[in-house]
Formats: sequence, C-alpha cells, structure tokens
Amino acid sequence: MGEILTSSTAPADLDNFGTHGNYVSGEWGPSVSGRTFIRRDPSDTRATVGTFAESDQSDVDEAVRAARAAQPDWNGVPAPKRGEILFRFGQLLARDKEFVARQVTREMGKVIEESRGDVQEAIDLAFLYAGEGRRLFGETAPSELRDKWAMSVREAIGVAGIITPWNVPVAIPALRLMPALIAGNTVVWKPASDSPSSAVMLVRLLAEAGIPPGVVNLVTGSGNNVGLPLAQHPDVDVIAFTGSTEVGRQVAAAAAAGLKRVTLELGGKNAIAVMADADLDLVVESVVWAAFGTSGQRCTACSRLVVEEPIADRLLARLSDRVSALRLGPGLDTRTQVGPLVNHAAVERVARYVEIGRADGRLVCGGDAPEGDLANGHYVVPTIVDGLGADHVLAQDEVFGPLLTLIRVPDYPAAVEAVNATRYGLSSSIFTTDLHRAFRAMRDFRTGLVYVNGGTIGAETQLPFGGMKETGNGHRDAGRAGLDNFTEWKTLYVDYSGRLQRAQIDNQAPS
Ligand code: NAP
Repeated sequence: MGEILTSSTAPADLDNFGTHGNYVSGEWGPSVSGRTFIRRDPSDTRATVGTFAESDQSDVDEAVRAARAAQPDWNGVPAPKRGEILFRFGQLLARDKEFVARQVTREMGKVIEESRGDVQEAIDLAFLYAGEGRRLFGETAPSELRDKWAMSVREAIGVAGIITPWNVPVAIPALRLMPALIAGNTVVWKPASDSPSSAVMLVRLLAEAGIPPGVVNLVTGSGNNVGLPLAQHPDVDVIAFTGSTEVGRQVAAAAAAGLKRVTLELGGKNAIAVMADADLDLVVESVVWAAFGTSGQRCTACSRLVVEEPIADRLLARLSDRVSALRLGPGLDTRTQVGPLVNHAAVERVARYVEIGRADGRLVCGGDAPEGDLANGHYVVPTIVDGLGADHVLAQDEVFGPLLTLIRVPDYPAAVEAVNATRYGLSSSIFTTDLHRAFRAMRDFRTGLVYVNGGTIGAETQLPFGGMKETGNGHRDAGRAGLDNFTEWKTLYVDYSGRLQRAQIDNQAPS
C-alpha cells in the first residue's frame, strides 16, 4: 500500500487522489490484510480515481471496538457542544465544496452542478443537526397523580453501523451521520465501493472539525466482506442502511438475530402523473430533470410517466425532441447535461431493459449505444419507451438509469391506479391546474413524498424523507424524524409526594 494521505487539504492534482486506508480510532491505516482496490473514472475508465483499503471482518471488528470505547465520552459531551463540532464540519465542507464536488463527479460520474448540490445538501444537514444539539426535545406531560413529575428524554442508542450507496455520496452519509452524532452515538461507516473518495474526504473534514478519535470510523471494502459483518456484529446497536431493496432485505435479515434497530431507505419506481389540463412547458422541463438528472440514478428519479390519453402524443413529441438533444459527456465538462452511469454492470442492466422495451413497446427516442470518445466511459443514451402497461416489467422494476416508460391512462382514477401499481412507495408527482385534483393526489398517491407541479426530486432537509411499501421499513431520514433513527426514548417519573402513590389503578373513591 502506498502513501496514506492524512491532510485535510485538497491535493493539487485532481487526477491523483492517492491511496487511502481506513480511519479507525483517529488513525489512517491500511486494512488488516493489506489488500487494496482501485476505483476508476466512469467517464473514462482508463483513468484511475484512487486506491482504497479492501477490508474484511477483522477491520470491522477493530472499528466496532474503537466506536464502543469512544461512545461513553462522546455521549458525555453536552449536545450543544457536539453541535458546535458539526457546525464546524459544515463550515469546512463549505470551504472545500468545489474540490469535494469535483471529486464526487470523478468517482461516480454525475454532472458537476449536481455534485455541488449533493455537497450543499450535506452542508445544510450539518447546520440543521448542529442546531438540534440545542433542542433534542423530549416531552413533559401532566401526571395522573398529585405531586408527581412525568417526562421523556432522548438518549443515544450506542454504536451505529452506517452503510451508504454511491449515487448521492455526500448528502446521504450526512443524512445518517449527522443525526447519529448529534444524539451521542459513535459510528462505523461503510461507504459504497464506487464512491470511496467522497467518504475519505468527509471523514478528513470531520476529524479537522474536532470529532474525537473513535467517534467516526471508516471501513472501505465490499458489501459482503464489510457491510454484512457490520450488520451482523453483536456489538453494533443500530444499522442504518441506504441502498437497493434487495440488499436491504439481506441487511435486515443479518441484523435480525441481534434484534438491532434497522432503518432501511431503499429503492423507488417513481411516477409523474400528467393531467390533460397541465402546463406542458413546465411538464417537459420537469420530466427531463426528474427522469434524466444523475442519468436516472436517483432513488427519487422519475421512471414512469403516467399521461392522460388526450395529451399523450403532444407531450411525447415535445419530450422526445428535448431528450434527443440532451448532451452526453463527462460530468466535469460544463456543457454536459447527462453524465455516465456508475459502472459497467449498470450499463448492461439498463441495456437489457432497453431491449425488452424495444421488443414489447415502441422506442420513442434513444436506445442506441453512444459512439466516439464516449466509448471509453459507461454511457447510456437517454431513452423513452411508449406502448406499455403499468404492470409491464419496465414499469415495475427499478431500472436505475436514463430510461423512462410512458403509460397512457383514460382519466384521473386510472392515473392513481397506475401511480400506485408498484411495490415501491418513495416519490410521486402530479401536474395539473385543477386545485381539487392536486389535493386528491396528495391524499391518493401512496408514496412518502408527493409533489404538485414539480418533478419527483427536490426534497429539502428539514422535513421527513423516505418511502412507503418496499422502499423502507417505516423509518424516515432528515428533519426531526431523522433523530428517531438514532435515539432511544427514556421516560422519567419523579414522585415528590413522599408517600406511596399507585398509578394505573382505580383511584376513584366509591360513591
Ligand atoms: P446497493 O447495491 O444496495 O448497495 C448499497 C450499499 O450496500 C453499498 O455500500 C454496498 O457495498 C452495500 N452492500 C452490498 N451488498 C451488501 C450486503 N450483502 N450486505 C451489506 N451491505 C451490502 O445499492 P447501490 O447500487 O449502492 O445504490 C442504488 C440503490 O440505492 C437504488 O436501489 C436506490 O434507489 C437506492 N437508494 C435509496 C435511497 C433512499 O433514500 N431511499 C437513496 C439513495 C439510493 P458495495 O458498494 O461494496 O457493493
């Protein structure tokens, strides 16, 4: 293993992010086995992003030991003081925003403007949860007895195992790390293997902000060798997993034996419903952003367009012109509108679905392999398929790429049925100028997020984020709800009557 970079300052040479170890007990070092893996640039796989520790169970054990040892002291730091460290972290991330954003684009491909948004969301989350250090409110309630005090407080759970995906590699870790830390938990974090350098950058900034040794531990490596042992580890109290529904199921099963708390934020198959009275200019712009932003690789990306039949052809013609003109390229090129997919497996997966769409429906645009310089990267041309029903596999599976399926419906009730006809329940949206219908959709769509006259993406940090059905297991990230994932409720009663008082029995004197 080569030089281990520990400086919090950005290396001058972006093309050489260097070699990085794990971060355990406040020290950077190689994995126990000494093995490493290389992350390549998805826009041109001839370029290397960096080299990272390939870890296994032994590394997880060390990191969990460090987190366990550090937890009592961290929990003893007053929450407002913990908040000051998170606030400082937010300031440092703002200082390094451009460098971090460029590195995000290099390692996972999305266009630089979106990477800046990713980093900004993490800054916002740092400031939000820093403020929670002065709140972390419990409740006080009147007791049913005289001279008795009744209240509840939040407490840390202990050691949190955090497993994150690559598609939003800065904000999603912040969604988990910030509430975990403000509540007094310590953390072992396993980031996605396709976005390890984002994790290294965040941990360096956390250390620079003053997070004490052992409070945040980073272990890089594969899902099977690091994620699974973390989920199974008997000394980890809570698992926060964000990723696919398939892997989420495995993680929940692995954690079940230890009866850990498990919070799962999983896949989506998000729909935009377009009513005949909608503003079509707004629809076109919103669908392009929601369906093809991050090359369709957002959990909230729109992959189903449910359209009232009378306007379907008109909308499709305009959408097709707009989508065909989208410019593919490396995310660091500011002219690029759609970047590469994250890896070769993703390209193959999307290509398989495109072929199914070609066979069973009608390709409206896209579907061809990109040519020229793009052949060295993981590019897929934005594609729209028409002529399929809401139950078709393209309208059911989370394709996770720039592939949009159009579903024609006769009226609003059929639109509701189509929007809800999936095992996922993350985000949905309706475009209409009818106020009554907008409110009905807010009631009728079975998703954790519903937008009116906006695409399926654009969640803000101060409100709950997450989904229904197989998008999760009932927990929510962000806002005050994010604290619920990382806190225990403790209820406290103080009797100052000086005599035995018995609650929950019939205290009424007989009449
Ligand atoms: P993924 O394949 O499920 O991986 C997510 C994380 O789990 C990665 O760190 C991965 O490690 C790890 N992992 C893989 N196999 C594991 C196992 N057996 N045990 C424990 N951990 C394991 O998902 P992804 O491709 O990174 O991300 C895309 C998915 O995430 C999509 O389904 C998307 O909808 C979902 N997502 C959901 C939300 C949300 O908030 N609802 C947000 C973003 C993304 P490796 O990288 O080493 O494989």
